[in-house]
Amino acid sequence: MKIIKTPQAMQKIADSIHRQGKTIGFVPTMGYLHQGHLDLVKIARRKSDIVVVSIFVNPTQFGPKEDLNKYPRDFNRDEKLLAKEKVDYIFYPTVKSMYPKNYATSIDLPSLTNVLCGKSRPAHFQGVATIVAKLFNIVKPDLAVFGQKDGQQAVIIKQMVQDLNFPIKIIVAPTTREKDGLAMSSRNIYLTPEQREQAVVLYHALQHAKKMIKDGEKNIHKIIALMEELIESIPDAKIDYIQIVDADTLQPIQQISGKILIALAVKFGHCRLIDNMIVKIR
Ligand code: AMP
Repeated sequence: MKIIKTPQAMQKIADSIHRQGKTIGFVPTMGYLHQGHLDLVKIARRKSDIVVVSIFVNPTQFGPKEDLNKYPRDFNRDEKLLAKEKVDYIFYPTVKSMYPKNYATSIDLPSLTNVLCGKSRPAHFQGVATIVAKLFNIVKPDLAVFGQKDGQQAVIIKQMVQDLNFPIKIIVAPTTREKDGLAMSSRNIYLTPEQREQAVVLYHALQHAKKMIKDGEKNIHKIIALMEELIESIPDAKIDYIQIVDADTLQPIQQISGKILIALAVKFGHCRLIDNMIVKIR
């Protein structure tokens, strides 16, 4: 496994892999890896000749009051975990090499970036779309694997790939959960032991909503009200949003049918957790 630190070196390697007729599978991450990340890597490993994982805490997707500086980092641990998964290259660039002084470009998909998490995290998804586009041009993957855990991000990336004609297959992998159902996240370490126990309420609320829908409930407000009630019964939990939207367009729906996304963001102290579930109704 090799560690590549500059975009130029990574592009040369990608070109040479393609010249040998081999495919590149890519998993972009911000590091501090957990089993959720490793499950994406396993998919890339199964489906491609060469696997590249990027580790880059992208400053442009953090708001001024967000946790950029204290975002957890442990490269040595990540390196060991990725070696075990037989990753071929870690792309581990510096901020300076990704955003030199005269950097000027940003990508936006307003109808998708300004809803759900985009409302309380302005500019976040422009940062995400832009860094992923840059990473795609640097790593030149044939396929890239993202997690359903960040459902809005997955929709945005799929749309961007289609709109900008990136010749890349996007795979969205299921959310990896802790035994009790909490979605794995690098940010879970911010939770106190009590909050960690309580945070499973997000999964329970989503499951509850899914069951209501499967049992024939059609009233969106009623479903959301019940989810709110469940989550608000936890004193430390502060709801940012709970929404039921079209799973492809992320726009609000009038009635429960087709492929829908139940998405939520809830704060426990300073820690903002997100989770979602897709439900398909005929
Ligand atoms: P991050 O390091 O948080 O930027 O995440 C990197 C990638 O891992 C993204 O595609 C995430 O959606 C994905 N990911 C994070 N947590 C999980 C999880 N619990 N299950 C599946 N994928 C995940």
